[in-house]
Amino acid sequence: MYIRLEQGLYMVGGGSGGPGISNYKDCNVYLAEGEQDAFLIDGGSGLDNQLILDNIFETGCKPEKIRYLFLTHAHGDHGGGVKGLKALMPWIKVAASLGEKRLLEEGSEEELGLVAAKKKGAYPADYVYPHCSVDLVLEDEQDFLAADGRITAIFLPGHSVESVCYLFEKNKRRILFSGDSVYLNGTLSLINCYGSTMEGYRRNIHKLAGRRIDALIPSHYRMTLTKGQEHVDRAIELVGYSSLPPMM
Ligand SMILES: [Zn+2]
Repeated sequence: MYIRLEQGLYMVGGGSGGPGISNYKDCNVYLAEGEQDAFLIDGGSGLDNQLILDNIFETGCKPEKIRYLFLTHAHGDHGGGVKGLKALMPWIKVAASLGEKRLLEEGSEEELGLVAAKKKGAYPADYVYPHCSVDLVLEDEQDFLAADGRITAIFLPGHSVESVCYLFEKNKRRILFSGDSVYLNGTLSLINCYGSTMEGYRRNIHKLAGRRIDALIPSHYRMTLTKGQEHVDRAIELVGYSSLPPMM
């Protein structure tokens, strides 16, 4: 199963909090496809990688076209599937920020937030994080030509140590894959785990100002395909207040 969001853009994974098209723990996994190549945003939890690959096949995109997997951050529901997807598609280059690279490659359960998440019952008690090496260490504002567009990494520590949002520009459309950093209506995701800080949001949220974002596509919950900048601007506004912004 998959969901087509617009031409060449698909949701190929997403668990019980989202579209329910892959393992229940998976964040939303997006596939952008161009004439020559394609890329993925995030890898899901790793609990059923084959299902995500099956969904990619169903879109008609040949997996051999996928050049990059851009990681928003290493938490289990986003980074746990990277190793398994690379095993199925060894040609994929995994791209991440330096802070998230360390966690993906060797983060402890404590650092990955898994100790607390398991206590809460959010992960199976026997879930073991599949560590995986990173091929490309990103720099803030680094961009790539991919899937017939340009994708730019915007570092936004806050939800996690070094979360990355990805701005994808194609056919004059500007799409922000915001990971867990920003949801609709300016909602953020500060969590009670290692690496999650309001300080990070305060220092970095302004980087999303003036990006003229059309589609705001987070890793969970709702998305919007139009007027995304209004939602991001609301987050910037709320982070300027002394009270905590709304959180999910
Ligand atoms: Zn997360």
